[in-house]
Amino acid sequence: MAKTQLDYAPAPESRSVVDIKPSYGLFIDGEFRDTESGRHFKTISPSTEEVLAEIAEANDADVDLAVKAARRAYTRVWSKMSGAERGKYLFRIARILQERAREFAVLESIDNGKPIKETRDVDVPIAAAHFFYYAGWADKLSYAGYGENPQPLGVAGQVIPWNFPLLMLAWKIAPALAAGNTVVLKPAETTPLTALLFAEICQQADLPPGVVNILTGAGDTGRAIVAHPDVDKVAFTGSTEVGRMIAKTVAGTDKRVTLELGGKAANIVFDDAPVDQAVEGIVNGIFFNQGHVCCAGSRLLVQESVADEVLTRLKRRMKSLRVGDPLDKNTDIGAINSAEQLAKIRELSAIGEAEGAERWSPKCDLPSAGFWFPPTIFTGVSQAHRIAREEIFGPVLSVLTFRTPKEAVEKANNTPFGLSAGVWTDKGSLILWMASQLRAGVVWSNTFNRFDPASPFGGYKESGYGREGGRHGLEAYLR
Ligand code: NAD
Repeated sequence: MAKTQLDYAPAPESRSVVDIKPSYGLFIDGEFRDTESGRHFKTISPSTEEVLAEIAEANDADVDLAVKAARRAYTRVWSKMSGAERGKYLFRIARILQERAREFAVLESIDNGKPIKETRDVDVPIAAAHFFYYAGWADKLSYAGYGENPQPLGVAGQVIPWNFPLLMLAWKIAPALAAGNTVVLKPAETTPLTALLFAEICQQADLPPGVVNILTGAGDTGRAIVAHPDVDKVAFTGSTEVGRMIAKTVAGTDKRVTLELGGKAANIVFDDAPVDQAVEGIVNGIFFNQGHVCCAGSRLLVQESVADEVLTRLKRRMKSLRVGDPLDKNTDIGAINSAEQLAKIRELSAIGEAEGAERWSPKCDLPSAGFWFPPTIFTGVSQAHRIAREEIFGPVLSVLTFRTPKEAVEKANNTPFGLSAGVWTDKGSLILWMASQLRAGVVWSNTFNRFDPASPFGGYKESGYGREGGRHGLEAYLR
């Protein structure tokens, strides 16, 4: 546990609420079955490196079985069912998610490494809220603005990352089902457990077999889903690099595609901003979920006249962040999700130093087992530095300064990405002007990292295309 200004007694959440099985199969056609490949991989707890379970690795034959099951369910049941009936299933899933929220929160913390207070207060409630929200749309699709009688696309192949495993699943599955599609979804290889628990919820909710299929595996499994000829729609969230490969695979086919990719958001603090609130927003922007957030405020742009004050208060606040056991209710920053991701964060941080930026972290006693990185800021960063341009996807903030709003806009937009941005100022007119100038899918004002199922989310440029969430999120699943 990190040394903090205040010492807290341990407040661990109990693990007894979850039942992790020694091994898991694939969820196809309403049942768990072993993989045709005979291959398995292990999922571990990133905070302890303990092996949690053996997971089936789906191959092409499994993908084919799952797509066939999804097609059958689409043709015979789901596309024929009225929207009101589909909505009932979604409401049922949402309620079960709420009833089993604690179980999901603990399991997500164990498998992902993120703090229990985040899984408990953010991931799981917002995942349930997505199902509630889209359940409400299921019988109102003709009022969604996509024509009088919009039709589902068919079978959706969905591939998601490890940073918000259950939440990304909800973002994908809820609108797809509400619109009348069936799905084959692949969770990330390091965080399969909550998706597999979700499969159990589909059984508990009596969802017709084949409407939701969950295939575990790594890149090859994802590639097979995306390339399967009977998949009508591909929805991907993950890195820009893999997004590019997917765009090439689907080019020239009839498949519809949405890509939610990386980001390098600017969190912009003007000299009239309430400083303490802004500091909280900076901390939330980059240290929430260990910085494993596509829309993280990973570039702080602070107006030169207040830069010293903001940095002094930011450092003071960072000294009070508690890094450690994800299941401790006091933990602010949990474990880095994998050894691979930790290596990437370390490498880019070393490059930041080598390029001349100044690195600072509060004193932190990190646990000896597991994957850990202290909250870190870099000052003296120039726009050409790699830590100002590349997504680090960790608890690392690059600090730049600006003098005028125009300069802030130029610096904020000087990125290949365009997912999100934050603006901190007292002036409403400045907020509106900034929002009109920033090339970012989401602009938060005097807050950061806020998510609501009714609000669309998505990017410009290398952050991808298509929107998820809100009414806009239905468009991707309707003809
Ligand atoms: P990743 O691209 O490596 O993996 C994402 C998923 O794609 C995983 O399930 C993986 O197994 C699968 N995959 C890997 N290679 C594939 C291939 N060739 N074909 C099909 N699927 C393949 O990304 P990651 O490291 O898991 O996630 C981090 C990235 O996700 C970051 O760049 C982050 O910004 C991005 N992200 C974006 C959003 C968003 O909404 N824009 C949300 C969360 C994460």
